[in-house]
Amino acid sequence: MTPAPTAANEPAPGPARTVNQIIAPYITSWTAEQEVPSRVVERPGIGVGYANEVLGDRDARGVLWLRPGVRRGVGKPEFGKVHPLRQRRAMRNLLCQVCAGPADQNDDGVLWLLRDYRNDWPGWPDGMGCTEPPVCVPCVAVSLRLCPALKRGAAAIRAGRFEVAGVRGALYRRGTFGPVAVGDVNVAYDDPDIRWMVASALVRELRGCTLVSLAELAAQHDAVPGR
Ligand SMILES: [Zn+2]
Repeated sequence: MTPAPTAANEPAPGPARTVNQIIAPYITSWTAEQEVPSRVVERPGIGVGYANEVLGDRDARGVLWLRPGVRRGVGKPEFGKVHPLRQRRAMRNLLCQVCAGPADQNDDGVLWLLRDYRNDWPGWPDGMGCTEPPVCVPCVAVSLRLCPALKRGAAAIRAGRFEVAGVRGALYRRGTFGPVAVGDVNVAYDDPDIRWMVASALVRELRGCTLVSLAELAAQHDAVPGR
């Protein structure tokens, strides 16, 4: 059911008004945002660090993060490549990954748009460690248009719980000449391996999930006044 448009339920002016001008999602990297060259070294008794580490290289929990350049909008968008710091900001603050406005939330939870793997396990995606930040309703259509992966099948879900669980990134191990990256993994904050990570994304664990029909979301969007 959709309430009749009134001034009271008109959305606040903001990013949603400009979604039709969005050419790349907020979290997408741009070609000018090259990684800052950094040498990963072992910090005895701690894990990995940067040879020339500065305070901003770690998050509040002490986890080391990749060092991307920050030049959003310069060059070309690199679809499929996610900017670690913008992903982290959007995920931490539950911002829409496309427009960076607040993600949609109702009594069933926060809205996520994911590749559809609903046949992977009963109750999917309940319990999934997710690196995709949530979305707002107007940006669902934009995402479906901009994201080739979602064109292969998308599922909108609402998660009632979405605890920050850890990070995704490169796991390092001690090597002869210094730490060596051994693979990309998700690691929980309470896992000792977290000290051997160079993080590239914040992970939330989705719980209390319900699937939402894309048609229903489209109808909700079309009912927004002023469009
Ligand atoms: Zn949005």
